[in-house]
Amino acid sequence: MGYRSAIVIAGPGRVSLEDVAETAPGPGEVAIRPAHVGICGTDLEILTGQADPAYVRYPVVPGHEWSGRIEATGPNVAGLKPGQQVIAEGLIPCRHCARCIRGETNLCQNYDEIGFTRPGAAAGQLIVPAGLVHVLPDSVSLLDAALAEPAAVAWRGLGRGHLAPGERLAVVGDGTMGLITAHLARLFSPAEVIVHGLRDGQASLATELGATRFELAGALPGNGPGSYDLVVEAAGTPAAVQSAIALARRGGRVVLLGLAGSGVTAALPIDTVVYNDLQVSASFSYTSSAWAEVAALLGDGRVRLGSLVTHRFPLRSFADAYQALRDGSAPRGKVLLDVSAA
Ligand SMILES: [Zn+2]
Ligand SMILES: [Zn+2]
Repeated sequence: MGYRSAIVIAGPGRVSLEDVAETAPGPGEVAIRPAHVGICGTDLEILTGQADPAYVRYPVVPGHEWSGRIEATGPNVAGLKPGQQVIAEGLIPCRHCARCIRGETNLCQNYDEIGFTRPGAAAGQLIVPAGLVHVLPDSVSLLDAALAEPAAVAWRGLGRGHLAPGERLAVVGDGTMGLITAHLARLFSPAEVIVHGLRDGQASLATELGATRFELAGALPGNGPGSYDLVVEAAGTPAAVQSAIALARRGGRVVLLGLAGSGVTAALPIDTVVYNDLQVSASFSYTSSAWAEVAALLGDGRVRLGSLVTHRFPLRSFADAYQALRDGSAPRGKVLLDVSAA
């Protein structure tokens, strides 16, 4: 057994590349060699210490968005073998609490998640429970597959919004969650998908990924109701939540996907919500069934998100990757770490 490079966040503001000892997968576990690891705003919050402490255990190896190949399987693992291209659910459901039994694995009462409370994929080796692994055919690009986790979050949010064929969808937020949501929405045959964002430079990414058009934030419908059947808020700011409510038609639905940071509040225009008979809901993370559906969509090529990757860095250049994520330049899609290039 040797050592593998890993990004280790020892505590808020303390991050370094370290050599971490390899381990053999235990019973029911699989050892994976990550290929690509996406980073997102949540990783920045873990780094700065802004993430809700209930969801992080330091020191932590980050990396909850990834794709890779199986290197070894532990005892009592059937149906998986070295070399297979895989992705795996990051939330580890206990499968026996009341929420898990109802299929609401995103609400498992025993929270445990890869890259938050367990070592994540920003490392040369990753250990995951075999039951959460989804095997992808060799025809799938591991670059496309690296976007599976945010895709599962967006897919679950769209499902919660009950988008129906012929409906008009507005996505508020031009970051990767918003762009992925717009891309996946095509599969529901909507009449129109607009991305409502703050950065004009994101317009080309939005339309390449399938949005009908990009609209700069500020172009709100005035005092009357908006015209969208469903609005998915994927920016996680008070202004974005207010835009989402303003864009919905009377009788429309609003789904909040974005996290704004612990304790952040938005003023709710009560009369708008009530007069317009809005259904406002939220979606947290993903369920196991959302993952299975996303794995199937990736597997048969109906979803290809690799074109969303605009920035790639070797693992050792993690500081540059975090910086690329912090600065607001556009166009910017997903920022990836290439583990094999470490
Ligand atoms: Zn993420
Ligand atoms: Zn559970």
